Amino acid sequence: MGKATVATAQLSSCVGCHVSLLDLHERLLDLLEDAIDLQYCYVVLDQKEIPEEIDVALIEGSIRNEEDLEVAEELREAAEVVVAVGTCACFGGVHGLANLYDREELLKWVYEESHSTDDEGEVPSEVVPKLFEYVRPLGEVIDVDYMVPGCPPKPDAIAEIVTALLEDREPELPRTNLCEECPREKEDKPIEEIKFRTGQGRPDPDKCLLEQGYPCLGPATRAGCEAACPSRGLPCRGCNGPTEEAVDQGAAFLDALASVSFEADVDVEELLEGLVDLPGRLYMFSLASSILKGHRDVIGGK
Ligand code: SF4
Ligand code: SF4
Ligand code: SF4
Repeated sequence: MGKATVATAQLSSCVGCHVSLLDLHERLLDLLEDAIDLQYCYVVLDQKEIPEEIDVALIEGSIRNEEDLEVAEELREAAEVVVAVGTCACFGGVHGLANLYDREELLKWVYEESHSTDDEGEVPSEVVPKLFEYVRPLGEVIDVDYMVPGCPPKPDAIAEIVTALLEDREPELPRTNLCEECPREKEDKPIEEIKFRTGQGRPDPDKCLLEQGYPCLGPATRAGCEAACPSRGLPCRGCNGPTEEAVDQGAAFLDALASVSFEADVDVEELLEGLVDLPGRLYMFSLASSILKGHRDVIGGK
């Protein structure tokens, strides 16, 4: 069998997922030598046109403007298999929080009112592609065959999907939640206080952070990073997005929080007042794919 033809593309995103691909280092060189023919990848090739036929398309980024949609549709047409790489493509990503604001508000702020804009700034009407009203994940506009979430995904996860496709087998993708791979000990211990502000106390190094009152999104987040943040003493912020079963990450976290018991004499209402910046806490990476989709009347945006 000849090499598989591969294209990679960036939609609205930060390029971090492409950097993760390049972080494969020598393994990427081995793949290029033995197994894949990289035909379109703007970070390493000066190739302007998307090929008409391709085996695998790896797409980073979400759908924010007309150009994103055109590129996504062209790649879907050309590719046998489309893989959404990274949480922007899978769930909208961190800039999905922009769905809390109107497009006109955002344009006015960026081009006319921000501190780095002079008094004569104006919203461009030419050259830049038209911004859509909302950020959408890739799967809302084209069929996506596989998702490799993470912000960015681990290089190993990208290697696994590419290798599995080359070997004509199902890729091994994480399906459980983060708690399943977290080394911290869970005891069903009642929560005494929710510590939603940073710098509140020093967590026990071995015990579950959520049970110590720290807002760890592990129960609502897809595994796959070996619980990188809780392993280092930090609560998970949810960058792998929701599990397949959870669908809505914020709702899944509130569900998990409700199932953790509280001290009997704790005023739960007072305790929940600690839940500041609700959208940022519950949907930092997945607002655009949530059930609410950023409806600010409901979720409490500006
Ligand atoms: S998923 Fe994260 S690393 Fe990848 S493009 Fe989006 S913001 Fe960047
Ligand atoms: S809630 Fe967080 S700290 Fe606790 S087990 Fe789950 S991932 Fe680990
Ligand atoms: S622990 Fe959570 S925030 Fe940290 S890398 Fe993993 S999924 Fe992302």
